[in-house]
Amino acid sequence: MGHDKKVKFVAERLDSGNLGPGWSAQIDEEGVVTVSGPCPVCHGDAYGPVLPNLQAASLTESLLVVGRPPSEPDEVRRIRAECCCGAKHSGDEDGGSGCGRWWYVNVRL
Ligand SMILES: [Zn+2]
Ligand SMILES: [Zn+2]
Repeated sequence: MGHDKKVKFVAERLDSGNLGPGWSAQIDEEGVVTVSGPCPVCHGDAYGPVLPNLQAASLTESLLVVGRPPSEPDEVRRIRAECCCGAKHSGDEDGGSGCGRWWYVNVRL
């Protein structure tokens, strides 16, 4: 599915149950978990975690916020992900980097 640039910008939380195929979670050696996949609304790139005002250069820093070593098995982490498609969707007065949707992804480690 291609990126739908006609989707109107709305800053809202989505039900995580809407996540379609193409979503995956990664964990690095330090136990930092990240998730990525297509935005459920505009189908552009989305990922998490994302800090407000995230700059590309500070990506590593933001990931450390959730970084702690995996401890107990079956630990579930809730990660906030948001649309980061990079397009300016209509209605986005701040010129953000996506269609405004965000949601939580539960990752079982
Ligand atoms: Zn989107
Ligand atoms: Zn988009």
